[in-house]
Amino acid sequence: MKVGYAGLGAMGGPMAMNLAKHFDTVVWNRTTSRAEAHAAEHGSTVASSFAEIADVDVLCTCLPTDVEVKAFAEQVAPQMRDGAVWLDHTSGASAGSREIAELLAPHGVRYLDAPVSGGTAGAEAGKLTVMIGGDEGALDEVRGVLDAVAASVVHVGPVGAGMAVKAVNNALMSTSLWAASEGLAALKAAGVESTKALEVINSSSGRSFATETLIANNVVTRKFTPTFAIELMAKDVKLATSVLDDAGVDGKVIRLVEELNWAAVAEVGEGVSHTSVAKVVENQSGVEIS
Ligand code: NDP
Repeated sequence: MKVGYAGLGAMGGPMAMNLAKHFDTVVWNRTTSRAEAHAAEHGSTVASSFAEIADVDVLCTCLPTDVEVKAFAEQVAPQMRDGAVWLDHTSGASAGSREIAELLAPHGVRYLDAPVSGGTAGAEAGKLTVMIGGDEGALDEVRGVLDAVAASVVHVGPVGAGMAVKAVNNALMSTSLWAASEGLAALKAAGVESTKALEVINSSSGRSFATETLIANNVVTRKFTPTFAIELMAKDVKLATSVLDDAGVDGKVIRLVEELNWAAVAEVGEGVSHTSVAKVVENQSGVEIS
């Protein structure tokens, strides 16, 4: 089976690395030097044209949003193999997914939205969680490909459903990160060291991925490692508000978190870790979470 991977960023690079261990893997990246470095390091092959990346059985994408995927699909779709499956690992809009699926269908290409969770560490370890929207028969055909990058694959519904689940998941992560940052700043001001507070919270009912991993590894250590950009998180929470809109759910909390995230992007700038929202809380309160 020949696999293609387009978008060798923080997530796509290590995912394509794991695919190249098991499959004949062709890689495409907007900035070609990144694809060349990937090929040299991981044994993939560089696709230097849309025709070359289109000539595969399974084409994976991991671009910033559905907008970039759609633009890419418009270029490659006419050159793709009839019967190919498109695995879109991007976190995008459900509506965008449905448009891409419609664009690909006349070319005999079946589209699955397949956003991932687990961060760059999960991508490197090949232990991501993948949430799939789309045809289950197509999913069965590509399970071997997903097994190379994932520890868990869950079919959640029709095209677009994977994107909806991913958006809500990230909105929950962001919400707990904001709330935990506020709580820890207040506790520090009240005289409780953040490490002590986290020791209690992480063995109590208020614990979350934010308190157990994000704050412990990035905020308390002051590392703020930029493996997931803050503007991508803001984008994901915005996507979650679209899920709420489509469902007619009011959703005051998630809408507020979206607003907070865009304000944080304006304050700390793009390209930094999404955990930098803790810095916004620190700036406002004058307390360092450490
Ligand atoms: P990066 O910014 O690290 O990589 C983005 C990739 O998209 C690069 O390959 C970039 O190419 C390419 N790209 C950007 N704009 C365009 C364009 N207009 N046309 C074609 N290619 C383009 O992002 P991530 O890998 O972090 O994120 C990718 C997706 O995965 C996002 O949807 C994100 O929300 C999601 N995600 C990220 C996680 C993380 O922890 N980082 C975790 C789970 C999901 P170039 O090299 O030329 O810039």
